[in-house]
Amino acid sequence: MPISGNLGFPRIGRDRELKWEVERYWQGVSDATRLADLAATLRATHWRLQADRGFERIPSNDFSLYDQVLDTSVTLGAVPPRFGDRFDLATWDADALDGYFAMARGAHDVPALEMTKWFDTNYHYLVPELAPDQEFAYSSRQDAAMVREASALGVATRPVVIGPITFLRLAKRTDEGDTIELLDAVLPAYEAWLSDLVTAGATAIQLDEPALVLDLSEAEKAAYPRAYERLRAAARGAEVMLATYFGGLRDNLSLAVGLPVDVLHVDLVRDPEQLDAVVAAAPEGLALSLGVVDGRNIWRADLTALHRRLAPAVAHLGADRVQIAPSCSLLHVPVDVTRDTGLDAELATWLSFAVQRLDEVSVLTRALNGDADAQAALADSAMAVAAHHASPRVLRPEVQDRLAHVTAEWGSRGLPYAERAPLQHERLGLPLLPTTTIGSFPQTADVRRHRASFRRGEVDAAEYRAGLQAATRACVRKQEELGLDVLAHGEFERTDMVEFFGEKLDGFTTTSHGWVQSYGSRCVKPPVIFGDIVRREPMTIDWASYAAGLTDRPLKGMLTGPVTILQWSFVRSDQPESVTTRQIALALRDEVTDLEAAGLPIVQVDEPALREGLPLRRADWDAYLAWATDAFRIAVSGVRPDTQIHTHMCYAEFGDVMDAIIALDADVISMEASRSGMQLLDELSAAQYPNEVGPGVWDIHSPRVPTAEEVDRLLGAAIAALGAAKLWVNPDCGLKTRGWPEVEASIETMVAAAERARDAR
Ligand code: GLN
Ligand code: ZN
Repeated sequence: MPISGNLGFPRIGRDRELKWEVERYWQGVSDATRLADLAATLRATHWRLQADRGFERIPSNDFSLYDQVLDTSVTLGAVPPRFGDRFDLATWDADALDGYFAMARGAHDVPALEMTKWFDTNYHYLVPELAPDQEFAYSSRQDAAMVREASALGVATRPVVIGPITFLRLAKRTDEGDTIELLDAVLPAYEAWLSDLVTAGATAIQLDEPALVLDLSEAEKAAYPRAYERLRAAARGAEVMLATYFGGLRDNLSLAVGLPVDVLHVDLVRDPEQLDAVVAAAPEGLALSLGVVDGRNIWRADLTALHRRLAPAVAHLGADRVQIAPSCSLLHVPVDVTRDTGLDAELATWLSFAVQRLDEVSVLTRALNGDADAQAALADSAMAVAAHHASPRVLRPEVQDRLAHVTAEWGSRGLPYAERAPLQHERLGLPLLPTTTIGSFPQTADVRRHRASFRRGEVDAAEYRAGLQAATRACVRKQEELGLDVLAHGEFERTDMVEFFGEKLDGFTTTSHGWVQSYGSRCVKPPVIFGDIVRREPMTIDWASYAAGLTDRPLKGMLTGPVTILQWSFVRSDQPESVTTRQIALALRDEVTDLEAAGLPIVQVDEPALREGLPLRRADWDAYLAWATDAFRIAVSGVRPDTQIHTHMCYAEFGDVMDAIIALDADVISMEASRSGMQLLDELSAAQYPNEVGPGVWDIHSPRVPTAEEVDRLLGAAIAALGAAKLWVNPDCGLKTRGWPEVEASIETMVAAAERARDAR
């Protein structure tokens, strides 16, 4: 009989209990015992949810106090000396917890591990930091303890272990060498780990190898069979499942099905087409775990359609060779849609969070096993999905009609940059090396309190507006005093650069409890795009014109770009992302032209997420970059040639997407540069970047005020590499999270540096 399996459950808790308790621990108002108790309660609750639904493969070790990759480093004894010399992380004693959090967050004198995105998700993991001669040792034994903890509650679990090739692929070596060379060093620790899990009573083990959906090096390909022969032996009789997710196996299919494991998990949401190929390639002894409900998105599954698709595969494989599962760990979806009591009733029936995903898997499994009761639930889900797709709130004929009429001209500014630039320069009258910021200014406790009181209904709309006006006025005044050339309104009315637009556009909704872990205790609540996107009314004109009216200097309108809005939202799965992005672009296009009509000479459209949207496989990059740049251009190309379009990106490595960045054809781009120093400048100069550019001259991620020498040096380097004529002077990113004193001092330093550089010419 097919059985239900799960790959991981969100650990943060229905009410983000883990977040609050961890933060209390950091503040010193809770202690290790209370934290451990809460963690155990959450685990027990989550195991119970799965056991109650008849799951026969229930994960353990999917829990973490901060991050599962950090846990893996600790379990393997891969603790960099700056922590290992101070904390004993090998045995999980009282001080180990502080060492663990020091690795995650740094301590006053030790920097944290680096953090980066987990594949193409918005979850961030702590990058294992390995020495070229790294030694590993199975340590902590936390994971085996959790297997015992679950059995004591009567739940047999399948512990989750990040597999060695994926672990090494995600790690970095302090000498920049190839991490796969450390395979032989790490395998004994893995063998001891698996063996201990089996000793603790595990009869099944899940080895996560999402690296198998990436482009692999020859060394990585060769590592797989070598590693898995040994892990297979270490796991003794336990059922070993190799889990792949976030994409299809493609050219790694024969590698994956050839490994000596009992079960292979495949992601049939990201790559539904691979089902037939995987079924055909699977040898006799290999069972499949079919990941069919979406672990990355929140739309209810059409279980009737899934049943129809899976039944032949189950018949072909034989019922004993099938597990039904979510596509990946449910870490990436919120916990429980029934907690979101504020959702409107219709929308609520379209959604499925982690708890509902468990129900879906369980129903589907029962239906495949011929359970007649499950049939009714199948039909229900099909009806809900059909109602969703046919809803007049989803299909907006005016949007479809407009989309159908978009031509290539919509993506073109009409005149090339070389002809636009003199018109813009004449209109703006800016000095050489103009100074500006990225847009936001410190969101002080006062501003945040003010917004929160308005949300709670404690201050009325008029009072709210007056408060924001005061903040905006003071901000514009301050920018004038500091001598900036191009001002911004400050973004005091925005909590978040995507949520703000999500609240103003039709086709979006926001949830009250749709929290997803982003890193550590940090959670995000992505807006939900459920239908065609319509701009009901202007979204930013009021604040932009208010601020522009306060000054004689040019002030720029401030928008979030279509790709970034898409990347940081839950998106529709009934149409390609390229289409959804284009709809957002059309709404933004109207906003951009309205800003122009309101008299703003500059509009900035931020695209910090353009690069992170890159597909996992190189072969898919060009197609993505084509529609992404296309959407940006549609958004900004409705304006006159003398209106200046800015964009902003906050990452430094983009040598590999430089062509796309040039293709955006923004008049001015500001980007992060100060942390990476010269590299960005080299790349821009090698690419002969044609338009204007503002490489950030100070790192806003640190509260430290840069010295005049530092800013002079960065600016000097930028002038040397790119020439002064097309250069702007600005910080790395928005100033929202900073305090006013350091911001004022830093801007003063920056403006003085620009003046010195002008004088020197
Ligand atoms: N305009 C935004 C700000 O200044 C840009 C933020 C970002 O790049 N992430 O806050
Ligand atoms: Zn930024």
